[in-house]
Amino acid sequence: MEGKQFGLHDVVKMKKPHPCGENRWRIIRMGMDIRIKCLGCDHSVMIPRKQFEKKMKKVLERKEQ
Ligand SMILES: [Zn+2]
Repeated sequence: MEGKQFGLHDVVKMKKPHPCGENRWRIIRMGMDIRIKCLGCDHSVMIPRKQFEKKMKKVLERKEQ
């Protein structure tokens, strides 16, 4: 699926914004679980990869290459 490729340190947009109002998150850990950090308030959450792929809307900024 297009737009669903992501990598470490990419900035992504989720389907639902964080309660702080921000909707840009940086991927800070890749693995079975994905850890993302809110760019608005620095709060980080760990999400199982499958769930992340479902909840992520698009990649805003790619870090790789
Ligand atoms: Zn936040």
